[in-house]
Amino acid sequence: MGHLHADFAGEVVLVTGGGQGIGRAIGRTFAESGAQVVVADVDERAAQEQVEWIEAQGGRARCVRCDVSDPAGVEALMADVAAHEGHLDVLVNNAGVMVARPPEELSVAEWDRVLNVNLRGAFFCTRYGLALLRKGRSPSVIHIASTRALMSEPNTESYAASKAGLLGLTHALAVSLGPEVRVNAILPGWIDVSAWKRSDLARQEALRPEDHAQHPAGRVGRPEDVAAACLYLASEEASFVTGQVLVVDGGMTVKMIYV
Ligand code: ADP
Repeated sequence: MGHLHADFAGEVVLVTGGGQGIGRAIGRTFAESGAQVVVADVDERAAQEQVEWIEAQGGRARCVRCDVSDPAGVEALMADVAAHEGHLDVLVNNAGVMVARPPEELSVAEWDRVLNVNLRGAFFCTRYGLALLRKGRSPSVIHIASTRALMSEPNTESYAASKAGLLGLTHALAVSLGPEVRVNAILPGWIDVSAWKRSDLARQEALRPEDHAQHPAGRVGRPEDVAAACLYLASEEASFVTGQVLVVDGGMTVKMIYV
């Protein structure tokens, strides 16, 4: 991180789904840059682990249990941040769920769940967080979307729609919020989150050499790669960057494949 002058001392960074996976790396990276991190997650145990880790490193963090798919819960989360931190500098809308199911088998409840967490949740976090963000020093919102907003494997319709929806949301909010709050999106590709899960959860199977080799960058992504992109987009260096989409995928989406 040394080459980026991303000093977030005194800044408040809220990471939804910040208990594990990519959100865990994002929170840790901001904490290492001096930010006070609010970890909002449905999984209290994961969130608590994250807070303990950050505090053990000398950083500042606290967690709030929140299901971002519940707008009333999001409103309560922001009221809690208003009471404790009083302002918000960076909102990272990272909470997400995935359902893989053939189109003819996907239920209405499953569709709604994925859209309500990934897309509606992101919007209402910004909606209810806006008053706090306006009190921030140089506020910005970052959506953690996915390269699956651009390209798909079979049976991932709800996830793809939710992530593509985040791109439209990024554009519209950037225009609406103008100079007050910058809004950008990151599209992570294949990120190996196996070392970033709740400690009592099973690790996924090891990656194969070909998994790495198929990436133009020569390796599968790490959660830290996404966190570094977040740090940049939230930093003063990115003050002229809004409404943008940054693909962090080791070059996979620009690789032409001849079979
Ligand atoms: P990734 O690998 O993409 O980072 P994970 O599943 O490891 O995904 O992490 C997603 C995080 O989002 C988890 O900590 C999970 O508990 C959290 N999460 C999932 N659904 C919600 C929700 N409705 N509200 C808040 N957090 C959520």
